[in-house]
Amino acid sequence: MKKTKASSMALAALNYDLFETKPMPPPVPATLYTKIKNQLWRQSVADIKAWEANLDKLPAIEELCRMFNRYNWLYFDGKLSQVRIEYSTRMRIAGSYTPRKKLIRIGYKYHQIFPEEIADTLKHEMIHIIYFKHNAAFKKEAKRIGASLKARTHPSLMRPSRYMYCCPNCGKKYPRQKILRMASCGDCSKGGKFDARYKLKLLKH
Ligand SMILES: [Zn+2]
Ligand SMILES: [Zn+2]
Repeated sequence: MKKTKASSMALAALNYDLFETKPMPPPVPATLYTKIKNQLWRQSVADIKAWEANLDKLPAIEELCRMFNRYNWLYFDGKLSQVRIEYSTRMRIAGSYTPRKKLIRIGYKYHQIFPEEIADTLKHEMIHIIYFKHNAAFKKEAKRIGASLKARTHPSLMRPSRYMYCCPNCGKKYPRQKILRMASCGDCSKGGKFDARYKLKLLKH
């Protein structure tokens, strides 16, 4: 038989019929522990929704501490030792953990750009309380609790550029660490080729 869309669909339906539906396993009896855990889950989902609705506002430190406690119970059975949490307005990365100071720093600038990532950053830094390096054990934990594997950064937050170039046509800014000799605006020059009409001008040194 020639495989058409209709025939493969019919075949799929037939195959599906061959499997007997398995009875669902009985639900795990709700203990106080699972009840608390479910409650925490719901709160965490509500947290994320609340931030998505208010992307320009970052949670206060007290709220970050509450999140820390919630995640500590939710993912680590409450075993992580207490740490301090601070925002850093100087840091250009998403977050950091300093074991010597027992301090989690949350990058303020980074999260002004990506406020929806703050829960992920906090979870990532919480794993650093157990594993300092991004080793295999760290990655396993990150996977388990759904945190990102790497400390994140954003190009615009990297060290300040030494040179600022600008397109004479569209005005697009090109911050660079090195001197550009033959460079034209990527947006205005067609076909990815240098175009003298759009040669970038040095604004600041
Ligand atoms: Zn990290
Ligand atoms: Zn341009």
